[in-house]
Amino acid sequence: MGVAVTTDPVRPLDERATVPAGKPAADGHDELPQYLLLDSVAQFTHHRDIDALDHSLTLTLAELAGARRVSLYKRASEHSGPESLVRCDYGQDGGHAIAAVEPDEEDPLLQLLRQGVGQLTTRATRGPDGDYRLLVPIHRDGAAIGALLLESAHPLDALLLVVDGFARIYANYIGLINESERDKLTGLYNRRTFERQLQRQLGRAARGLIGPRCLPPAPEARLARRGTLWLALLDIDHFKRINDTYGHLYGDEVILLIAQKMRACFRQDDVLFRFGGEEFVVLLLAADEAAAHAALERFRTRVASYVFPQIGCVTVSIGYVGVEPQDYPATVLDRADKALYYAKNSGRNRVCHYRRLIAEGVLGDSVAAGSVDLF
Ligand code: GH3
Ligand code: MG
Ligand code: MG
Repeated sequence: MGVAVTTDPVRPLDERATVPAGKPAADGHDELPQYLLLDSVAQFTHHRDIDALDHSLTLTLAELAGARRVSLYKRASEHSGPESLVRCDYGQDGGHAIAAVEPDEEDPLLQLLRQGVGQLTTRATRGPDGDYRLLVPIHRDGAAIGALLLESAHPLDALLLVVDGFARIYANYIGLINESERDKLTGLYNRRTFERQLQRQLGRAARGLIGPRCLPPAPEARLARRGTLWLALLDIDHFKRINDTYGHLYGDEVILLIAQKMRACFRQDDVLFRFGGEEFVVLLLAADEAAAHAALERFRTRVASYVFPQIGCVTVSIGYVGVEPQDYPATVLDRADKALYYAKNSGRNRVCHYRRLIAEGVLGDSVAAGSVDLF
């Protein structure tokens, strides 16, 4: 399993040490002290970032339950990206290690999650090694979006309602965070989340966590799944004319249809943003320039060949560039914007690569920025 060990991004462990690590906060069937529960809930809901929230949830439950291991499984969905697994392990040194782990395709819990909510029920069981286990699904809008699995040397039955409560608070909180990260009209990520998503995507690309899920999880396959991260800036051509001719409501409908086409056309792992009025950003992973270009070209032609209700033909121009881990987000955006500006000025309904334009000598560093307001 590919494991990226992270330290707790939440708060130093010694500040959290109200409960001795490896020992449950409540022995046997004692109730957990209320102050401890409230403190844990307050600490865990302090975060506005989903990764930090996931880490905090597993650590909080590991401390409260004195569990050997707490695993948070999250299911793939249209909006939440691919499956993920965060694990908090109680270590030999008496501390906790929290890691983002690639889910094992053979994992029975992952299979259950994929089958849906009906299959997943709260249960306390014993593992093959005699460990006590507690499985609690996480529901949102009637569907299982994930599950918590606690493994411990102590019985966990007394914690069932507490863990279930945490799962419900977590689900509510995820809903709030998702809403604040999304554009209201299209449901795509909004511009505010760009920088964080860019960092997250770079991290995932480096760990080889992105790619077709049909491949076996062998190390060499994970390696093959790695690729370069590309940033593409998309802008609808002559959008003002659409607004002026048909009105803003029709303009909004075009924006919505373009967003739907983006979802249908790009891969589930690609991250899609509505960046401004009729401007979009795609963060996509592709093996090389040819693959990135082909994906963007496919989208451009799909839009160009679609007949929009009432309006007819609409086209998009696209500028894109490769992202290096050390790049500043504003620099990458600026490059893609210059390529987009070139695409606009050379006929529109085109896909242009920044590096290629530089190599061809048609784009100097002195080229004025295009239509996108940078940071
Ligand atoms: P170009 O091909 O050069 O991109 O031409 P354009 O007309 O698309 O250029 P520009 O970016 O100047 O125009 C974008 C217009 O989009 C201006 C603005 O009135 C409109 N707009 C911005 N946000 C929205 C929105 O949410 N809904 C609608 N209907 N229109 C919007
Ligand atoms: Mg435009
Ligand atoms: Mg524009």
